[in-house]
Amino acid sequence: MSTSDTPAIDGRFGRFGGRFVPETLMPGLIELEAAHRAAQQDEAFQVELSGLLRDFAGRPTPLYRAQRLEAELGHRLHIWLKREDLLHTGAHKLNNTLGQVLLAKRMGKTRIIAETGAGQHGVATAATCARFGIGCTVYMGEVDIERQAPNLQRMKLMGAEVRPVDSGSRTLKDATSEAIRDWVAHVESTHYIIGSVVGPHPYPTLVADFQRVIGQEARAQILNREGRLPSHAVACVGGGSNAMGLFGAFLDDPDVQLVAVEAGGSPGEGHASSLGRGQDGVLHGAMSLLLQDSEGQVAPVHSISAGLDYPGVGPQLAHLADRGRMQAVSATDEEAVAALHRLSTCEGILPALESSHALAHLAVLAEDSTADLVVLNLSGRGDKDLPSLQGREGS
Ligand SMILES: *Cc1c(COP(=O)(O)O)cnc(C)c1O
Repeated sequence: MSTSDTPAIDGRFGRFGGRFVPETLMPGLIELEAAHRAAQQDEAFQVELSGLLRDFAGRPTPLYRAQRLEAELGHRLHIWLKREDLLHTGAHKLNNTLGQVLLAKRMGKTRIIAETGAGQHGVATAATCARFGIGCTVYMGEVDIERQAPNLQRMKLMGAEVRPVDSGSRTLKDATSEAIRDWVAHVESTHYIIGSVVGPHPYPTLVADFQRVIGQEARAQILNREGRLPSHAVACVGGGSNAMGLFGAFLDDPDVQLVAVEAGGSPGEGHASSLGRGQDGVLHGAMSLLLQDSEGQVAPVHSISAGLDYPGVGPQLAHLADRGRMQAVSATDEEAVAALHRLSTCEGILPALESSHALAHLAVLAEDSTADLVVLNLSGRGDKDLPSLQGREGS
């Protein structure tokens, strides 16, 4: 990692990051930071985690060349998909939950809580807790419960208690606030597994660390298959964990253009483009780019994909965009749905609506003369999105 992207002691990335939390949470965060640092040095921890990633989760995931998609887009690009959709439970989230549950065990915690938007982080947390026989409570907004019904059922089948959240916009932001409230009340017995590179230090660093395996594998795989690094690495961004997972391995390769694709939403309904259109603000314990109204209140956001429907973004991504190392673009709801249909019919792969935002950007890269070799993180599979797609054209 380049030194400019290694957080200082207080977890800052430039002017972003930090730890803006009630005093009662400080001991929990300091304990977690220490446990993470110790685990990084501990051979036994690393062996246990990589064994779980291999045998329980299914790593390494393949890097797949989408040649019929290349043809559809005009034959200019080589397109390689990092198949996190093939990871157990259907998205990249499990890389992080496995790492964090191992940390929770080391800290002697007896209960796990989590928030979830699309339900993928909730499902990964529920699966991991079932695997370790540890109690699990997941907070989920009522709007998301409705649009991601299959994931609600999966969590319950694996023994998690799902608590519906009916405050605010009844989506991910409100579920996160509820989970933080629970943690404040039970910090001694409970570990809070944040599902993305957001929240107070050390979460952004810790989650990026557990997701780094995506980029490490992809970098070795593309060198093996193409003999060179990609011109572009592309990922969708909600909080930013699958993006940081991929980009982490290319931060010190200045010739690899990093492209973050945010939710451009729909006219009249809004968007969730915090990198592109946010301003400095504090949400859920960290300073980052945040969508807010003229009075600094968190603005309502919209995306067809529940996993991107969040007004903030990880502080490291805000910093990478700020200093020009990473480009932030967006794709609309409609473009994402079109990209989902295109990959499904061209390649027989039904992508998550979140990942479809990244896929939509391929049409832009197909016209960009600086792009020739693309690695795109296919962060998850789309089975969970069938209710959202129903009734839309072409479904
Ligand atoms: C959760 C999720 C996302 C968004 O979260 P990030 O932290 O930005 O990666 C993207 N894709 C899928 C499939 C997800 O489940």
